[in-house]
This record gives sequence, C-alpha cells and structure tokens, in this order.
Amino acid sequence: MRKDPEIQTSFLRIKQGIRRVIDLIYPRFCVFCHSKLNSNSDYNLCSQCALEINPIKAPFCLKCGAKLDQLSQIRYNGCNRCSNKKYHFDQVLSACKYKGMVKHCIHLFKYKRKRKTKNILSDILIRFLNENFCPKNIDLITAVPLHKHKLRDRGFNQSDLIADKISTALGIESSLDNLCRIKKTVSQVTLNAQQRQLNILGAFSCKNPEEFKNKRILLIDDIFTTGSTLDECARVLKQSGAKEVTCLTIAR
Ligand SMILES: [Zn+2]
Ligand SMILES: [Zn+2]
Repeated sequence: MRKDPEIQTSFLRIKQGIRRVIDLIYPRFCVFCHSKLNSNSDYNLCSQCALEINPIKAPFCLKCGAKLDQLSQIRYNGCNRCSNKKYHFDQVLSACKYKGMVKHCIHLFKYKRKRKTKNILSDILIRFLNENFCPKNIDLITAVPLHKHKLRDRGFNQSDLIADKISTALGIESSLDNLCRIKKTVSQVTLNAQQRQLNILGAFSCKNPEEFKNKRILLIDDIFTTGSTLDECARVLKQSGAKEVTCLTIAR
C-alpha cells in the first residue's frame, strides 16, 4: 500500500516540530565534535561531520556490491573480481567506504561500546536500503552471529543490534538467534582470501532451518572484506532452504 504524500508531509512536519521542542529542552550534540545539533540534523551528527560519510553510489557490482567505475564493468554490471566467481549469496550491498567518520563510528560501537553510534550506523543503512533496494523484497532479517565466547566477552553482537534497528524501522521480522556460530575461528584480519575461506568453513549452523525456508533474507554484517564470512553464512542459509540471500554491510 502506497502512503499518501500529503499525510507523509504532515507527518514529517509534526515530527520536525516535536524534534524542535525536544531539542530546546534536551539539546543534542554531535557524537563526534560535540557541537550543538539543529533540529534538521540527521544521524546525531552535525552537518560538517555528516559530510565525512563516504557513501558508495550506484552503479555497483550486482554480486559483491563494489562500486563500478569502468565502462566495461558497468556494461556487464560486474567487477573484475566477480566475473567468474560463484557465491552462495545473491548480492552484497555496502553503504559506505570503510574510512573516516564511518570507520571511527564502527570502532567506537564495537570496541568502545558507544552504543549511540548504533543509531548513526543504522540510519545510514536504512537510508541506503531505501534508496538502492526495495525493502519489500525482504521477508526476514538476520545478522552474522558471533561465537558464544566472543559474545560473552563483548557483551553484545554489533550486527544483531543494527539488524534489530533495521527490522523495527522497516517493519520486517527479524531472526537473531537461529543462525549461530559453532566454530571458534582465528581472526580473519591477517589472513588472505583463500585462508579466510578455509578458516570460516563450517563455522555456522542453523538451529531451526524451517524458519529460513523459502524466505528472502537480508543478512547484516558490519564490514565487507573478501566476502568469505557472508558467503559461508549464505551457504548455510541456502542449505536451510532460503530462497534468496542479500547481504548488507555498513562499509567495505
Ligand atoms: Zn560534528
Ligand atoms: Zn564484484
């Protein structure tokens, strides 16, 4: 059902009005430079800091989501890396470049537990999804899980928290405890693409395959590097009967 544009505009005005009143009583500050925000500021970021988000704009590789900048690649909708590669996922979408403010934000969120940055990162993803993908094509949202020991040490799974925000914002059901990590893997950071693939093989499992059966799934992760983690999750999801797996990462 399409929303009436007039209702949408009135709703936006009311929202901005409420925002203005709240800002007067409880002023908001940019999470980075701490300057005072005005009521139009999105993301809890001032306009200057918001400029530091480096969004990845279409055209993208229809497989791995890399930005395409050569005419030959644009013609075939694919990057050189994916031209003869097979993945278990159907598509990856990455919203931003892993640099500047977004990189800083991911670090604050993951390692310094600055949960306020969760809203910034989720908002970036929601906006990106609405601009580049039809959320109606998603039945269920899930996230790349952490091993239970890592989850215990960190106290939260950053991808779960983001997936939960997206699920609420888009009104799409989420499933955050079905896909699980059963193998403790070494950090992928120092490994090359082939080693990453081997390291992650067999790392995931699904408790209740029925829940994923015939569903178009949106799989959330924070950073895309070689895609091996997402691909291994997608393999398990497809094995459970998922119809489609689209991966969404904040950055790459
Ligand atoms: Zn700022
Ligand atoms: Zn590609």
